[in-house]
Amino acid sequence: MNLSCKLILLLAFSILLGSCTLVDVSDSPLIICLNFDDGYQEVYQNALPILGKYGIKATCFVNSGTVGEPVIMTWEELSELKNTHGWEIGAHGYSHPNLSELSLEEARAEIELDLFLFRDKGFDPKSFALPYGICPQDYLSLIRARYQNIRSTNDLAMHRPIDRLNLSYFPFHHGWTAQIIQDRILQAMADKEALLIIGFHQVGASENWQDCAPATLEQICRFIAKKGLKTMTIREAMKEF
Ligand SMILES: [Zn+2]
Repeated sequence: MNLSCKLILLLAFSILLGSCTLVDVSDSPLIICLNFDDGYQEVYQNALPILGKYGIKATCFVNSGTVGEPVIMTWEELSELKNTHGWEIGAHGYSHPNLSELSLEEARAEIELDLFLFRDKGFDPKSFALPYGICPQDYLSLIRARYQNIRSTNDLAMHRPIDRLNLSYFPFHHGWTAQIIQDRILQAMADKEALLIIGFHQVGASENWQDCAPATLEQICRFIAKKGLKTMTIREAMKEF
């Protein structure tokens, strides 16, 4: 084979490889939901501009009883996230309770007061994230009666049909590189998972076990955008299933 033949073959191979990569990306059914739990002010300050740059909207799970406290977002900031940026504000219990330590009546009060306060402030949350991922089986009906979507803290692969009352998630841990999240996304794509919820808490420079540095969050967002994956709030994603 002469040199020009080799070059033509090489070119054809590159084009084929390029189109395969393209097909792999556009054919992925995976929907990514980014979640930010506990209402940290750093989410408004640091995460919002990064996600905005990549056209990503997220779901924030907020404890209504802590809104406006130091390091926690205010109602005005939450309204801006929702109304200006299209983010979803979900409920997470009035005071981030461990529901397994409460009586049924105490649990009911936590959940009812939380929803009352959200509605009073002009929010209508449809998604609820279990605080600590814990809820006694008997109390689940309290949440199911009020919310359409319930997120737990397991990381189980989510394929169709999606159980919207038991959504899994993959939480970021401080000290992790973006690569760990990227690998989980690649795994979800390879396994044809339908939905992957990636969880964050603080987005700053603290040593807290949940903190994600803004630069790491940006790397993750850039990766998602580069892969051409769909990103949605949980509420939006559930309309797809
Ligand atoms: Zn939480």
